[in-house]
Amino acid sequence: MSDSFKALLISRDEEKRQSVDIVSMTEDELMDGDVTVAVEATTVNYKDGLAITGKSPVVRRWPMIPGIDFAGTVTKSSNENWKKGDKVVLNGWGVGETHYGAYAERARVSGDWLVPLPDGMSAHDAMAVGTAGYTAMLCVMALENHGITPDSGPVVVTGAAGGVGTVAVSILSKLGYHVIASTGRRSEDAFLKDLGAAEIIDRGELSEPGRPMGKERWAGGVDAVGSHTLANVLAQTSYGGAVAACGLAQGMDLPASVAPFILRGVCLLGIDSVMAPKEIRLEAWRRIARDLDAGKLASLSKTIAFEEIAGAASDIVEGKIRGRVVVDI
Ligand code: NDP
Repeated sequence: MSDSFKALLISRDEEKRQSVDIVSMTEDELMDGDVTVAVEATTVNYKDGLAITGKSPVVRRWPMIPGIDFAGTVTKSSNENWKKGDKVVLNGWGVGETHYGAYAERARVSGDWLVPLPDGMSAHDAMAVGTAGYTAMLCVMALENHGITPDSGPVVVTGAAGGVGTVAVSILSKLGYHVIASTGRRSEDAFLKDLGAAEIIDRGELSEPGRPMGKERWAGGVDAVGSHTLANVLAQTSYGGAVAACGLAQGMDLPASVAPFILRGVCLLGIDSVMAPKEIRLEAWRRIARDLDAGKLASLSKTIAFEEIAGAASDIVEGKIRGRVVVDI
């Protein structure tokens, strides 16, 4: 059929064993929505890795086209805000979890979930940022809203060589912060310094059980790791500081004490990108276009083919992906 297109489909058998196939689909097989988009670029986020490998129950409807974010061009719309030819970006809203997602040449979604592709950015650039980078920007905005400025003191970024981490390091350094990057990949020290890290610490300093409070080392933090790492980041945050927590690469637990909150007035700022209201998304994408250096974005991202998505999904959950991965469709 003329409207058939390629899609990556994950399915489950009766024993809940997952399989991943590249299939041909037609638009009438897509789920409900008032806007159809020709997907031009997507990416592999940590959550996509969890979905494709089945390591965590991210997918809640079977079968599923995974992929939580895309950039592309509207081909059909009955939504008053969008018309054929508009360039759009989508992050989250359950796409790739409960609604057919980005790993296909076509997506049909609610127009309310879309934001315009920022001026001067290509679909490829937007996916080099992707949900990880947009979440890094949400973290930076949360720290700013709390009053953390470059004059407040250093800011620590955990999981620094990953997707959220590399974008957070790049943005914070461009804004003038003294960035302390925490990584387990010391072979990436030079790369992280090029992105703007002023200091690099070994993630082993933060990943083991620690004391309820320690020396005050930073005024703020962007944490993509959770578990003991987040507990130790909080314990070493200076008086009145704040930590934006968005991830769980080490674990979903938080084995911490209330000491930093009640004795130092430290704040823990929770960051969710999936259901973030539209105004915040628009602001985040405006800020990304302004505060993320294009050269750094190019250096922290690499491009893979559609057929390589499943391999990249395994790599990201094993912590083997440096920075961001873009899939050109
Ligand atoms: P990546 O895999 O690219 O980065 C995670 C990084 O965490 C790794 O690169 C590694 O950094 C570090 N890490 C991995 N395993 C461990 C471990 N066991 N202990 C300590 N550090 C570890 O993922 P993303 O950057 O894309 O995502 C990071 C987290 O943020 C994920 O948990 C993801 O689900 C979450 N996320 C949440 C969002 C939200 O809306 N709240 C949106 C987007 C992402 P290094 O090698 O430098 O040590």
